Amino acid sequence: MATDYDVIVVGCGPAGLMACGELAKRGVKVLGVDKNPDLGRNTRTASGYCFLNQPFNNLVIRTEEKPEENRTYMHFDTLGFSTYYTGIMQGVYHSYMFSDSGKWWRASTTKKPFYNLFNPSQCKNDRYTWAVKKGAEFLPETLALRVEQDASKVTLAVRTRGKNRTLTCKKMIASDGLSSRMAKLSGANKTRTFYGKGPTIEYEMVGVKPPYERGDMFFFGAKNFGGMAGGLIMVPSPIAEDAYRLETISTLPASTASLLIEHFTQKGPFSSWFKNAEIVDKSGAMVEMLTPMLVPHLGNILFVGDSAAWLECLYQSATMAGYMGAVACEEELKGKKGFDGYTQFWEDHFEWVKNPVRMADYMKRVMFPRFFTVQELDFLFDLSQKYPIIMEEAEATPYDFTTMVMQQFIAMDEVPEELKDRMRMVIKADMGVLSQLIGKVQKA
Ligand SMILES: Cc1cc2nc3c(=O)[nH]c(=O)nc-3n(C[C@H](O)[C@H](O)[C@H](O)COP(=O)(O)OP(=O)(O)OC[C@H]3O[C@@H](n4cnc5c(N)ncnc54)[C@H](O)[C@@H]3O)c2cc1C
Repeated sequence: MATDYDVIVVGCGPAGLMACGELAKRGVKVLGVDKNPDLGRNTRTASGYCFLNQPFNNLVIRTEEKPEENRTYMHFDTLGFSTYYTGIMQGVYHSYMFSDSGKWWRASTTKKPFYNLFNPSQCKNDRYTWAVKKGAEFLPETLALRVEQDASKVTLAVRTRGKNRTLTCKKMIASDGLSSRMAKLSGANKTRTFYGKGPTIEYEMVGVKPPYERGDMFFFGAKNFGGMAGGLIMVPSPIAEDAYRLETISTLPASTASLLIEHFTQKGPFSSWFKNAEIVDKSGAMVEMLTPMLVPHLGNILFVGDSAAWLECLYQSATMAGYMGAVACEEELKGKKGFDGYTQFWEDHFEWVKNPVRMADYMKRVMFPRFFTVQELDFLFDLSQKYPIIMEEAEATPYDFTTMVMQQFIAMDEVPEELKDRMRMVIKADMGVLSQLIGKVQKA
């Protein structure tokens, strides 16, 4: 059966771009489709942290600097491939939390950074440039509208600058991100559980002057946001020493996110840090929480990256999923069971696929303040000043960060047993326990 392409990749984020380049490199006729006009630029909110040279999603990405090429190579050794990145990479050694009453907690590492910062736009640009060189075709400014499939092909209806047309392929990669339209339309979301959604707005600002050493900072408490519920994460940006990315954790309606960030930077207790600051970039995203696909394929469609994930794969793991998606499609085109192989990879690497507790673990860091009352947090933050938390290195991925913090507090004699028991519960909590725990503390 003749089709327009062997493979069409819907969505050219880090997963889709990697898949396009790798398929083209392997001689597969591939087309990447994306609604954005500029595929070498990140328009979706992404604070820019990545976990290198430490285990994350059952893999250690080993970095290798090659200053003569102006590149950092990232070796995914156990999967047998490497990529490169040409932007700035910076380690972060301090992590802060600020409570409703202005008290703060800090943890620091001395040897190995908690994580590294990168520039997501540069990363996309590198991948796009590479994929074009390998011979991948792209159709930007093109919205994928509908998808249908039969045993031998996938038919995709698209619209480019107001013009509709139909494209066919033997296999399709749906890498259209969270809230994947392809997953919804093809029926692949039927077995997933919906846990809610929330908007986020990100400002990248220069000229920000916090009176603390550079690190990520997490703010919570109604006083910081003019009485509104929510939180805000401020992550250093590698573009300048006084640059930060500020990102809201907000609830619907979407306008709350803007109100929250405007209040925080202009009127809140920390607004003096932003007196001479300037916004250099703005982006936004709607974060939808669906349990992950356990089997990320349906017929001739493979779901790669965030389209099949719990919350986010992050750039680094979306890239690895894109590579493995390309391998899987090539095998399928040769008549092998490539999609089954991809499913095994998905299950082996993304911890929340096999173990639902890891879904809860991934969320605990942003929900941290909701496990305790303001008074309890103030007590704990005072203790952390008395006993500074300084380690050579730490488990700082979103999966393990909260456990690390709880263990630090559990080890302190002054913390009452009741609080320690709650911390032990938080460490073990799955999604069900998490919802109950939050309800209890809010009522307390
Ligand atoms: C607030 C926030 C902060 C984050 N911080 C970080 C961070 O610090 N570090 C990190 O690594 N990651 C971060 N992420 C996560 C990261 O952005 C994602 O995990 C990653 O981008 C997933 O890659 P992807 O290729 O699967 O999907 P995406 O990057 O979402 O790409 C999907 C692509 O599909 C396109 N598309 C969607 N629908 C259609 C359609 N119908 N037709 C055509 N094109 C379509 C979109 O335009 C987009 O280009 C963050 C995410 C959020 C929301």
